[in-house]
Amino acid sequence: MPDINAFYKEYGIGEKVLELSERIEAELEPRFKAIDGIAEYNQLKVLSAMQKNRVNASFFSASSGYGYNDAGRDALERVYADTFHTEDALVRSQITCGTHALNLALSSCLRPGDELLLPAGAPYDTLHEVIGIRPSVGSLSEFNITYKQVDLIDDKDFDYEGIRAAIGPQTKMAAIQRSKGYASRPTFSVEKIGELISFIKYIKPDIICMVDNCYGEFTETIEPSDVDADMTVGSLIKNPGGGLAPMGGYICGTKSCIEKAAARLTSPGLGREVGASLGINTALYQGFFLAPQVTASAEKGAIFAAKLFEAAGFKAHPAGDEARHDIIQAIDLLKPEYLQAFCRGIQAVAPVDSYVTPEPWAMPGYDDDVIMAAGAFVQGSSIELSADGPMRDPYTVYFQGGLTWHHAKLGIMLALQKLIDAGYML
Ligand SMILES: *Cc1c(COP(=O)(O)O)cnc(C)c1O
Repeated sequence: MPDINAFYKEYGIGEKVLELSERIEAELEPRFKAIDGIAEYNQLKVLSAMQKNRVNASFFSASSGYGYNDAGRDALERVYADTFHTEDALVRSQITCGTHALNLALSSCLRPGDELLLPAGAPYDTLHEVIGIRPSVGSLSEFNITYKQVDLIDDKDFDYEGIRAAIGPQTKMAAIQRSKGYASRPTFSVEKIGELISFIKYIKPDIICMVDNCYGEFTETIEPSDVDADMTVGSLIKNPGGGLAPMGGYICGTKSCIEKAAARLTSPGLGREVGASLGINTALYQGFFLAPQVTASAEKGAIFAAKLFEAAGFKAHPAGDEARHDIIQAIDLLKPEYLQAFCRGIQAVAPVDSYVTPEPWAMPGYDDDVIMAAGAFVQGSSIELSADGPMRDPYTVYFQGGLTWHHAKLGIMLALQKLIDAGYML
């Protein structure tokens, strides 16, 4: 075995970071084994859904134009539905991103006069304009759809009494976000989401419960759809795309919800019958097949980052030893120059665009300037190694992805080294 540390040193990673990394990787062996166990279970779940639906090479051919009778597209939706244990699914390249999938789920099921319940505090930044929390053209509030937000108790627990009080005759839907996203609260386990859904349905059984599953897929052996969510929603350029999906989003759910979503995505009367796949079916199948393994790699990277930066004196959310239900790792870097240094470390290990320097920038849908590091095969893909953060105190970096664990490891080590190079005393 040649000396791998010589390779790391070529990247400028010094002895201190190397030693610390080695120690932490050794400590993490049992954690990594548990993650591999979840990946193994999920691999079999996906594989058996593919076999049950008799996936074959004819599904990989491209449709064009209207996309009528695209057997590969339709079967992929059954594969998703069987994996998520739902009646139906909509998996489409025409769903442009996670926010679009969530907007589709909400706007297809809500009608003027209905109210949306947010039982777990503020939603993901980009949903503020979807809902109309921040005024925006085309928001739900422009259609006279109102919302009620119930904040978490101590930024972690559901306020069941508050939720009970917020549910009224107009409450039609509840939106629950699994991952913390850019918030400071913990990510919810599927089990905890299940408790919330059963409470909401106990109060009013016909409330449609929608879960934003972005970043959560395959981190556990069950999904929100296994605990009675009517719609489970996410992006294909995160976990379930396995790094290969070039675009797309999904909604898995009940027959009636999926019918509404399809009618809204294309047109009433056309629904799911149209939507050419243009030759990306292979990537969607293959990406979904790899997704359990890719998610496990990203999760290992997240835990390694938490432990390494804790050892270096920073605060990580979740903490290195905490249970974990998504692939996002937040670390408070406390200074703008450390946030930039971290992002530069991640950028410098990218297989694509490694020579560019990330700078803070105004992003559509986000309140503050955001700095982003990504050198991805798929533009904006955050299952690929990436780091980003809003330029606001405490300069928290949100780190995610890594198609392979070893790539994530290199990026994290270099990120710490860049902080040291920027003046941080380890
Ligand atoms: C990424 C993300 C979204 C939005 O997805 P985009 O693809 O960026 O539009 C929504 N919710 C959560 C929790 C996310 O992580």
